[in-house]
Amino acid sequence: MELIVATRNKKKLKEIKAILKGTGLKLSSLAAYRKAPKIVENGKTFRENAVKKAVKAGSLTGKLTLGEDSGLCVEALGGAPGIYSSRFSGKNKSDSQNNLKLLRLLKGRPLSKRKAHYVCAVALADSNGLIATVEGRCRGLIGFRLKGRHGFGYDPLFIIPKYKQTFAQLGEKIKHKMSHRYRALEKAKKIIKKYIEKH
Ligand code: IMP
Repeated sequence: MELIVATRNKKKLKEIKAILKGTGLKLSSLAAYRKAPKIVENGKTFRENAVKKAVKAGSLTGKLTLGEDSGLCVEALGGAPGIYSSRFSGKNKSDSQNNLKLLRLLKGRPLSKRKAHYVCAVALADSNGLIATVEGRCRGLIGFRLKGRHGFGYDPLFIIPKYKQTFAQLGEKIKHKMSHRYRALEKAKKIIKKYIEKH
C-alpha cells in the first residue's frame, strides 16, 4: 500500500523511509503533488500540528497519509524550543544558528542542568479524516559544543547518556533504533497494519 508522508523536509523523509523500510509500504512525499498548499503549522502542540498535516494531505490525495511534527524540549528552558524548534532563532534560520542560540541560553549550566528530550507526534489520516495519533520520546542531554556530522537539527548537541555521544556522532544505525521518530513510528506501524487488513 502507498503511504503519503505529509512533509517537504527531505532529511525527515529520509529518516522516516529508513525506519519504515521492510514494511512493504510504498512511501512518497507531497513533493509529487504540485498543487499541495503549504500547510501552516499553527497548532499549540506537536500532536495538533501532526494532525493538521495528515488530515490536509489525506483529503488532498485521497490516500493513507502520515503527518509528523517533532522538536526538542529543554527542561531548563521550560520546554523550549518545543514546537518552535525549527524556527528557534527566527524564520529561515539554519540548524547551526538554532544550535548556537541553544548553547548561548544554556551557557554556564552544568551537564546535570542540561536535560532535554525530543518529541515526535505522528498522525495517520485518509480521505475520511483522522485515523489515529501516536507519540514517541527520546531523552538526552545538551552538550557544551557541537559534535558529529550525522543527522540534522539539534543532533550535534543531543547527547545520549548511555553512549556519552551525540546523535550526530552515533549515526543513523543507532539513532533509528532509539529515536523519538523510531518510537512513534513503531506504534504507527501497528495501526497501519490493522488499517491495511481492513481495506
Ligand atoms: P518540524 O518540521 O516543524 O516538525 O520541525 C522539526 C524541528 O525539530 C527540526 O527542524 C529540528 O530543529 C528539530 N528536530 C526534530 N527532530 C529532530 C531530530 O531527529 N534531530 C534533530 N533535530 C530534530
